[in-house]
Amino acid sequence: MSSRPSDGTRLASHGAASLTIEPADVAIIGAGVVGCAIARALALEGLSVVLIERGRDILSGASKANSAILHTGFDAPTGSVELRAMQAGYDEYLAIHESLNLPLWKTGAHVVAWTETEVAKLDAIVAKARANGVADVARIEVAELSRREPALARGALGAVQVPREFLIDPWSAPLAYALQAMAHGARVLRDAAVTAARFDGDGWVIETSRGMVRASVVVNAAGLFGDHVEALARTSPFAIRPRRGQFLVYDKPAAALMQSILLPVPNERTKGIVLCRTVYGNLLVGPTAEEVDERENATTTEDQLRMLREVAETRLPALRDIQITATYAGLRPATERQDYVVEAVPDRRWITACGIRSTGLTASLGVAAMVRALYASHFGPPRPVPTPHLIRMPNLAEDRPRGIDGPAPGAIICHCEGVTRREIEAALIGPLPAADLGGLKRRTRVMMGRCQGFYCAAQVAALAPKLVTP
Ligand SMILES: Cc1cc2nc3c(=O)[nH]c(=O)nc-3n(C[C@H](O)[C@H](O)[C@H](O)COP(=O)(O)OP(=O)(O)OC[C@H]3O[C@@H](n4cnc5c(N)ncnc54)[C@H](O)[C@@H]3O)c2cc1C
Repeated sequence: MSSRPSDGTRLASHGAASLTIEPADVAIIGAGVVGCAIARALALEGLSVVLIERGRDILSGASKANSAILHTGFDAPTGSVELRAMQAGYDEYLAIHESLNLPLWKTGAHVVAWTETEVAKLDAIVAKARANGVADVARIEVAELSRREPALARGALGAVQVPREFLIDPWSAPLAYALQAMAHGARVLRDAAVTAARFDGDGWVIETSRGMVRASVVVNAAGLFGDHVEALARTSPFAIRPRRGQFLVYDKPAAALMQSILLPVPNERTKGIVLCRTVYGNLLVGPTAEEVDERENATTTEDQLRMLREVAETRLPALRDIQITATYAGLRPATERQDYVVEAVPDRRWITACGIRSTGLTASLGVAAMVRALYASHFGPPRPVPTPHLIRMPNLAEDRPRGIDGPAPGAIICHCEGVTRREIEAALIGPLPAADLGGLKRRTRVMMGRCQGFYCAAQVAALAPKLVTP
């Protein structure tokens, strides 16, 4: 959607309606990580769910580009909804990741001070972590930091360890949540922009670019368009103010230079520039924090990428000899508030889960638990399914066997990332097949490596012609 709603009940139209589906207990607008987690939580409550996404595939918005850190909340605003959601989400991820075959890299993190001004803030960081219930955060000696991270530049003046900040797979996790919801009957409508909605006192008739959807309750999880969608139900009490974050991805040898997540001393606006590995085997540097007007496509800029490179190579000098594989940018769905907006509007049979800004990958399962509780207290008692169906995700992480490591992997299509033809074919079938090239990349890692698809794009196009034609 590219324009603001004119009358609060109609959003920009995206095309002809052709589909009519069964009424649902709940329609969730937006299949980012938050919408997928909510779909899972409500489907596991025995509710009939339809998840509606305007993009050709799920994760078309903020959730496609982040740092993939599972945060403890040590530095989150004390007493905030965000902190509660992050900590509940963190705990649930730890509880379910093995059953869904999702990775967890227990790297820990270090907040490093490089100036005396930053050193002066370290005790406050520890105190805040304790206030937030993250009791294992503590100062460590610089000599200990150097022992743990020998490739780090000399000159650090102080450090705090955050042992339970971890890394996860940002794409397989939401896909697993959506698939588990579908295993319990949830329907996922993609390429279905919500354009209008009418409340008839008992429920909602939602107009999408693919047809009408009826639902008793609507959940707004529309991320960067959360305020536009909110205007379908009420005057939006928040405005989305997208905050862009740009990243550099260093080539695989860089990953050997660091064990933990390297965090700067944060300021009021941003956590600052982070250096960390990715579970796909690279080293990531970013994100920036820039207020922008764009909501759809995050662009990178030369000056910010240059700045990231300078920061990275100052902190980790050996990066000067390592090439950059890719650059990308993401948009945080921030609002004018310093917190998430997770609330029910009972007389409109509406739940808002918006403004899930910098921490939603971690918090998604926690936000979903909050939505589940709001649903139960306003719209009906839960009927939890007795035994959840478990989904086993194909592993994309470097530390565990992947398709290519099997006894007979068959043809290899992407040699940079080691992606087999069989993995690509598997991603094109099933209940939620890749629906565009980005979706295929997120399901397999194909074309994500050193050559960025230069060598394998033609083969990928032959295997998935519908995904590469507009
Ligand atoms: C630079 C950066 C770094 C980050 N790092 C981390 C991190 O390390 N750890 C962490 O936990 N979090 C991190 N995050 C935060 C996390 O990525 C976001 O909080 C999260 O993706 C927000 O998810 P969402 O589902 O609310 O929004 P989105 O992903 O934007 O999902 C909303 C969906 O709604 C759809 N939609 C919108 N309007 C309509 C409509 N009218 N009809 C139908 N569908 C619609 C969109 O297409 C979109 O797919 C980071 C974010 C950024 C940008």
